[in-house]
Amino acid sequence: MEKKYPLHQLTTWKIGGPAEAVYWPQTKEDLSIVWQRAQEAEVPVWLIGQGSNLLLPDEGLPGVTLVTTSLRKVKWGDYTVQVEAGYSLARLAQEAGERGLSGLEFARGIPGSVGGAVMMNAGAHGGTIAPHIMNVTALWADGTLKKVEKTELEFAYRFCSLRGHAWVLEAELMFSPGDRKRILQNMKENLKMRKLNQPLEKPNAGSVFQNPFGDSAGRLIEAAGWKGRSRGGAQVSNKHANFIVNTGNAKAKDVLALMEEIQKDVQLKFGITLQTEVAYLQRSTKNDARCAMHDARIEGEQSSQND
Ligand SMILES: Cc1cc2nc3c(=O)[nH]c(=O)nc-3n(C[C@H](O)[C@H](O)[C@H](O)COP(=O)(O)OP(=O)(O)OC[C@H]3O[C@@H](n4cnc5c(N)ncnc54)[C@H](O)[C@@H]3O)c2cc1C
Repeated sequence: MEKKYPLHQLTTWKIGGPAEAVYWPQTKEDLSIVWQRAQEAEVPVWLIGQGSNLLLPDEGLPGVTLVTTSLRKVKWGDYTVQVEAGYSLARLAQEAGERGLSGLEFARGIPGSVGGAVMMNAGAHGGTIAPHIMNVTALWADGTLKKVEKTELEFAYRFCSLRGHAWVLEAELMFSPGDRKRILQNMKENLKMRKLNQPLEKPNAGSVFQNPFGDSAGRLIEAAGWKGRSRGGAQVSNKHANFIVNTGNAKAKDVLALMEEIQKDVQLKFGITLQTEVAYLQRSTKNDARCAMHDARIEGEQSSQND
């Protein structure tokens, strides 16, 4: 357990104040025990993966922040893989490709963990992780670890029905047999496209807003004139308007201010409400402990989760 850990080191945006304590569980059971003890002691608990879709508060986080990246056991079958939540999705995709297993070609450039990807139903280039999930082992609010079959879960665009109810600790995924060379080539092309279209040279958290049905958030933000505009150290990327980059010293409050202004302006100009894709973990505004599995969307269930 590390005390007063700088959270900006745990996110791709490089934003976030000190965590009271950060812990990297070694096993799923270990994580479950910490969760239960924290619940008994009424200490807030937070869960993060690779921090690639995450805004963390400038004031830091109270209680214990659990980081799944230490959970990375992986067991390959002929056409399946059982993999712990902290394993890198991009690495898993690459390894599947090298085995001639097709399915995760879309994921090679997504810099998150497997657990984060299941929870966000991560996707790109026309694919998502949902069709490849067979089952998920999750930690439930009462501290039990339970395996749920895919048929018991619902997935939609950047949504998994476990959100707010359980945390993903392991998943079993399936693949189709494919041509190794073609799979690897496909991934290479996807990576090349990302380099061209995304501001990967500066700290960011991927797409800030979800694409509204039938449109693109980036197109709307650009059309509203936001490319290149900044608040403090946060700037709307000149390369891709749905990315906000950290130009060096961005604070969470800069990013939030920019997001709010963009949302209002796009609503005013096009009548479309942009929903956030990035998650935001924030301190409770009351002194009571958080007893629910947090969901960290900036809007939606925020008040019931965070207050
Ligand atoms: C350059 C760049 C490109 C990106 N491109 C894409 C893309 O093409 N498609 C896409 O879908 N995403 C993309 N992303 C966003 C991000 O990589 C994905 O959403 C990823 O799945 C998040 O995983 P993570 O481990 O980083 O989650 P985190 O950022 O650590 O967490 C995100 C949210 O998920 C929760 N969470 C994390 N792990 C778990 C778990 N095990 N159980 C329950 N909840 C959990 C956290 O509490 C938080 O609410 C991109 C990000 C970047 C920086």
